[in-house]
Amino acid sequence: MIYQRVALIGLGLIASSMAHAMRAGGLAGEIVGHAKSAETRDVALKLFCDRVTETAAEAVQGADLVVLAVPVGAMAEIAAEIAPHLKPGAVVTDVGSVKQAVVDAVAPHLGPGVHFIPGHPLAGTEYSGPQSGFATLFQNRWWLLTPLPDTNAVEIARLRRFLEAMGANVDEMDVARHDLVLAVVSHTPHLIAYTMVGVADHMRRVSAQEVIKYSASGFRDFTRIAASDPTMWRDVFLTNKEAVLDILGRFAEELFSLQRAIRMGDGEQLHAYFTRTREIRRGIIEAGQDTAAPDFGRAARPKSEG
Ligand code: NAP
Repeated sequence: MIYQRVALIGLGLIASSMAHAMRAGGLAGEIVGHAKSAETRDVALKLFCDRVTETAAEAVQGADLVVLAVPVGAMAEIAAEIAPHLKPGAVVTDVGSVKQAVVDAVAPHLGPGVHFIPGHPLAGTEYSGPQSGFATLFQNRWWLLTPLPDTNAVEIARLRRFLEAMGANVDEMDVARHDLVLAVVSHTPHLIAYTMVGVADHMRRVSAQEVIKYSASGFRDFTRIAASDPTMWRDVFLTNKEAVLDILGRFAEELFSLQRAIRMGDGEQLHAYFTRTREIRRGIIEAGQDTAAPDFGRAARPKSEG
């Protein structure tokens, strides 16, 4: 056991997967949960919580570790509510997909006797809610911690041990760097997927179902990503605005350059470009973050997102 009592605030995909992994590994003495709706709390109590509470304030009482697993836009309100009820010496972490906005929303509420260690698991699926979690979600996935400069090293080490025991590979990163990197590897690709599916939806009206009927693997992968939770992704774009707009600007430049190559019939440019991008795919496989097996969008496996 690494923490005696763990409080999960928000009981969706990430929190439920953590609870299943904690139970599988015997990592917590007691798992207490809180979510907004009674319906979610009931499901959580049946599937993975030892106890659920009607308020977040009750859930955190006596907890050694508090995990904020709500959409990024709800973090400030929760932090304000729980702050007066935290046990001295408690560790507070979060799993939000954006880090600067969470630090700004949470840190000002917490007193000096509490250790705040922001975090983000790079693991997820397009499913949400308390039924969607599973114990192996974090296996061989990165979990980035973005501790603030004066954070207690012993508590960082303990949290690392806890996350590693759930199967994650843990790394530490600066807050701003995290938001830029995630804008490249996750946030902007999601926006592009949402856009492409929107375009196809428009086309479908024009071409009477063919887009759906004959959709090839590329489009099916886009639809899987574009099925991700609307609240979570709205908050990601509203709170990682600058980094996403920066990457989108670069994306638009590249797109125009490829558009021009197509118009001019510049096969050499297209071939050279696609050769470079294929190397990136190889690098991801070599880094163990995906397999080389063909996947036509049918395999039910977790994607590395968020
Ligand atoms: P989810 O499945 O949609 O669950 C969200 C949970 O938060 C629900 O239990 C919801 O309760 C609860 N909640 C929302 N607002 C609340 C409030 N004001 N007070 C109390 N509970 C509240 O979400 P998730 O996918 O686990 O995502 C949670 C966090 O993880 C987000 O910050 C997201 O950015 C991050 N993340 C997600 C992924 C991913 O791929 N899904 C990956 C990495 C990180 P109800 O059910 O009662 O509404």
